[in-house]
Amino acid sequence: MKHFDTLIIGGAVMGSSTAYWLSENPDYDGNILVVEPDPTYAHSSTALSEASIRHQFSQPVNIKLSMFATEFFANFHENVQVDGEAPELPFHETGYLFLATEDGMENLITNHEIQKNCGAEVALLNPKEISERFPYMKVSDLEGGSLGIRNEGTLDAYSLMQGFKLRARHNGVEYLKNRVVSLSVNQNKNLVEHVHLDSGETISCSRVINCAGPRARWIAEMAGLQLPVEPRIRAAFVFDCREKLEGQTLPLTIDPSGVHVRTDPPYYLAGAPPPEDLEVEPNDFKVRQDEWSDNIWPVLANRIPVFEKIKVKSSWAGHYAYNTLDQNAIIGSCEQLANFFFCNGFSGHGFQQSPGVGRGLSELITYGRYESLDLSDLGYDRILRNEPFLEKAVI
Ligand SMILES: Cc1cc2nc3c(=O)[nH]c(=O)nc-3n(C[C@H](O)[C@H](O)[C@H](O)COP(=O)(O)OP(=O)(O)OC[C@H]3O[C@@H](n4cnc5c(N)ncnc54)[C@H](O)[C@@H]3O)c2cc1C
Repeated sequence: MKHFDTLIIGGAVMGSSTAYWLSENPDYDGNILVVEPDPTYAHSSTALSEASIRHQFSQPVNIKLSMFATEFFANFHENVQVDGEAPELPFHETGYLFLATEDGMENLITNHEIQKNCGAEVALLNPKEISERFPYMKVSDLEGGSLGIRNEGTLDAYSLMQGFKLRARHNGVEYLKNRVVSLSVNQNKNLVEHVHLDSGETISCSRVINCAGPRARWIAEMAGLQLPVEPRIRAAFVFDCREKLEGQTLPLTIDPSGVHVRTDPPYYLAGAPPPEDLEVEPNDFKVRQDEWSDNIWPVLANRIPVFEKIKVKSSWAGHYAYNTLDQNAIIGSCEQLANFFFCNGFSGHGFQQSPGVGRGLSELITYGRYESLDLSDLGYDRILRNEPFLEKAVI
């Protein structure tokens, strides 16, 4: 039977980032296996992501994770290159603009203070200032908005994942095309000892990391652990608008209704949480077209009147690995099973958290503690205590 020191379940952006950071760490001296059933990643959240980054969160740890991602992305080529070659990761810097009516203003101001204290470059705008920058936007119902001045925008999630993966493989990490179907737990020792694969193979391991995205709950159940993570559908609609928006480039704008829209040159892209936001089957990727006609388009046409006349060019749906307790990540180990690590529940912000989370897990595994950024607020113990660590700025 083969043995691996670290076995990572799921090889998309989180699994590959964790493999990358562990294999880059000179103090980690074990071998690493990543088990991934679909090397095309066609249905992974990573490949279906809108791949944007913002510094506007309500929890300092989330702001700092994104700030680290900004730094990592800026040096991406150097960080992941193999023999001078690396995937391109162009950054389309547009900023995020959170809009608020009277009801949402208190939240916006509180979040703004937290973001400024963390060093984020953000500005609070009144309706007149919003109008001056973005004259195509209707502001009569608004009290204000929060705009990211620097370091917010869109990249490419697939390229990020490929960069992590290529470098991890170069460092000696093995990728195996297979699916984990069960785990053997030694109850006396509180340890996962074996991982069983769809092919019938069994692999022995010293530790397991759950990076199975929207399917993470079922991996945790294989280990006898509860995880409040479920697949929830999120659709993205790409549309064309012939009329030019005169003024500053449209930022990734979050309407008070929850609808968001951004540029997707030469088009635009919009989405929203569905009106009934419930768990879906893990193989259900059907776009609900009525979401566009009933919820999204009317909001867009109201906020940006030139969007009255637009044409949908394409659409797709992916899954959030939705943490039903607090929409925040669940990272790290747990007392119940000493060698089982969580890397789960990223909801709508896992792309930008992948560099910082992979680094954090590599530190936790190698040194038994977080060294660069303390991620313990995102630990599993809060799940057991049923104490939410709420992120208020969610999309
Ligand atoms: C429409 C949409 C828009 C988004 N927009 C953004 C955004 O703008 N910014 C942002 O930061 N984040 C965004 N996200 C979230 C982000 O994409 C995810 O949080 C991130 O990609 C999660 O990566 P992951 O590796 O955890 O999961 P995934 O990418 O889903 O990967 C999980 C992997 O686990 C594998 N797996 C599953 N079961 C098993 C098993 N039994 N055995 C072995 N392997 C298994 C799967 O095949 C898959 O490849 C968005 C997500 C969606 C769906």
